[in-house]
Amino acid sequence: MWRLKGCPKCKGDMLVEQDSYGQYEWCLQCGYRLDIKSLLELSRRTENRRQMKATLR
Ligand SMILES: [Zn+2]
Repeated sequence: MWRLKGCPKCKGDMLVEQDSYGQYEWCLQCGYRLDIKSLLELSRRTENRRQMKATLR
């Protein structure tokens, strides 16, 4: 499953995959990996998006 322009780092296209740890997304453009757990935190703090970007590095 694809999530287009979903990457918080480079706005690249994210590929949603699942492994034994759960669901995660990773960016084809920069290799950034986003666990769904982090994703939920991310949407909870949408207003602090710029701050999150720094935190997730
Ligand atoms: Zn990216």
